[in-house]
Amino acid sequence: MVSGFVIVQVPLYSQYMVCPNCGAQVPSFSNFCNMCGKPLRQPPVLKICPRCQNRMPESAKFCPECGLRQKASK
Ligand SMILES: [Zn+2]
Ligand SMILES: [Zn+2]
Repeated sequence: MVSGFVIVQVPLYSQYMVCPNCGAQVPSFSNFCNMCGKPLRQPPVLKICPRCQNRMPESAKFCPECGLRQKASK
């Protein structure tokens, strides 16, 4: 064995996903693309509460943050 070398356990990136913005391969657990910085995990913002600016799915009838009733979008 050669002393002075340290074997570092590198986590295996067994799964990659492709950034929809720039096409870069990024580890599947990434929150942001490491090439362009685009958020990868956050769902698209469909509705924003006018009172507290909380983001919620379009189907939400009440804001999960402040309880404000949301207007039907359709
Ligand atoms: Zn990207
Ligand atoms: Zn709210």
